[in-house]
Amino acid sequence: MSSNQTNVKIPESLDRQAVAALRAQVRGELIQPGDAHYGEACRVYNAMIDKHPALIARCADVADVIQSINFARDNNLLLAVRGGGHSGAGLGSCDDGLVIDLSRMKGIRINPKARTARVEGGCVWGEVDHATHAFGLATPSGIISTTGVGGLTLGGGHGYLSRKYGLTIDNLLEVDIVQADGSLATASTDMNADLFWAIRGGGSNFGVATSFLFKLHPVSMVFGGPMFWDLKRSKEILAFWREFMPKAPEELSGFFAFVTVPPVVPFPEKLHLQRVCAIVWCYSGQPDQAEAVFEPVRNLAPMLDAVGPLPYPTMQSMFDALYPPGLQWFWRADFFKEISDEAIDLHVQYAQQMPQMHSTMHIYPIDGAPQRVSRNDTAFSYRDASYSQVIVGVDPDPQKMPGIIPWVKGYWEALHPYSAGGAYVNFMMEEGQERVQATYRDNYRRLAEIKVKYDPNNLFRVNQNIRTLEHNPR
Ligand SMILES: Cc1cc2nc3c(=O)[nH]c(=O)nc-3n(C[C@H](O)[C@H](O)[C@H](O)COP(=O)(O)OP(=O)(O)OC[C@H]3O[C@@H](n4cnc5c(N)ncnc54)[C@H](O)[C@@H]3O)c2cc1C
Repeated sequence: MSSNQTNVKIPESLDRQAVAALRAQVRGELIQPGDAHYGEACRVYNAMIDKHPALIARCADVADVIQSINFARDNNLLLAVRGGGHSGAGLGSCDDGLVIDLSRMKGIRINPKARTARVEGGCVWGEVDHATHAFGLATPSGIISTTGVGGLTLGGGHGYLSRKYGLTIDNLLEVDIVQADGSLATASTDMNADLFWAIRGGGSNFGVATSFLFKLHPVSMVFGGPMFWDLKRSKEILAFWREFMPKAPEELSGFFAFVTVPPVVPFPEKLHLQRVCAIVWCYSGQPDQAEAVFEPVRNLAPMLDAVGPLPYPTMQSMFDALYPPGLQWFWRADFFKEISDEAIDLHVQYAQQMPQMHSTMHIYPIDGAPQRVSRNDTAFSYRDASYSQVIVGVDPDPQKMPGIIPWVKGYWEALHPYSAGGAYVNFMMEEGQERVQATYRDNYRRLAEIKVKYDPNNLFRVNQNIRTLEHNPR
């Protein structure tokens, strides 16, 4: 269903007058089925997701968010919150309910002296990187610039700067949250400390984050880009990477990947559409040290070495063209404490069967600064994991997905016994309560207690949901 006129079920209790009153109250837009923008407003990044809300409130400010929350709660409507719309599971939208779409809330204010950025809830990371780069500053985030600040931060957030500066939540100083009762709370280590603990990894279970305050670091030019090796060398290269990374300076990050070489410039034609093993590097340390840092890797004679100096925002948007919105995505992920020889053999086996050409497997290093925070200091539990792994089946053509999904599932099932048990919430689809609980481990109990305090009726449940049988039986 993709037209503006859909079969969306508008709840009977939702009378026209109430909707008209909401429309009059919000400064942003209220979009309904039949409106000119409805089809476009429904679309999320993963085209496999096709949800049709009854109402989409494109909020202009915090007041709009408050009105929308109150409306959803009082009219017993399912409520979803959309930041950048990148969730693999499509958790930024819902069927038949109300979506609070934050995409108009784009304010960013940099304080170069204090090295902080105040960022509104609807920003995507490319916008933040653009704003901070003007001052030679940055904060850790993900590897695609179109990803939303909201979802990525609330789930934890890891990227090229994490080994040195921690997860995104480790750089979060303060957040404004509109809660289920419509009130606005500020959370930090000094204010509403329990809420601040919970939202740092506990996702969007506790309210709508309308503003984030991030710590910034001096990062401007970096040395980065991919290196490729023949797939036949996967075992050797993955084993090298496993030994090399923990000893490398924390300014160096490099995720290991299996990829298909895109059939476009700047990639040499002879490599086009070849499956290869890759490491995508980003070195944010002293420029005069870069050659020495990369020397052991270059001694492995990559068949493509595209590492060079570039502005950090360019590094951050390097994969945007390869992964535009509108592709089909099927995700499976896990955290790992180590990569055994047996696991490497399985990686090599599944890499040979990898569907062309967008599907991929990434292993992100999350050792270093993220591990210096204790597993109970924030809701993000897997501080003892060194790797965050994701396997994605991706293709523009929905017809190809039934052939691609079994590769993802088979690969994940083969590796899962070697994993730490849980996965990064931001890499999960809707995989059930057991998987959510496995991700939070002993933090789940505290999360459930805080959930009951701040959202007793589970209004915020279109997410990797924290719930307890006693308090939230739905
Ligand atoms: C191509 C791609 C690459 C990625 N790379 C990385 C990476 O390198 N590192 C990494 O850490 N993650 C990465 N991710 C995962 C990413 O962190 C999640 O998809 C994240 O949920 C995206 O946030 P969003 O705001 O765009 O998503 P949305 O779909 O808008 O929202 C996701 C969830 O967060 C909630 N939410 C969003 N904003 C708010 C808010 N302001 N207040 C309350 N709740 C909110 C939504 O309700 C929903 O439950 C990647 C995802 C994609 C698709």
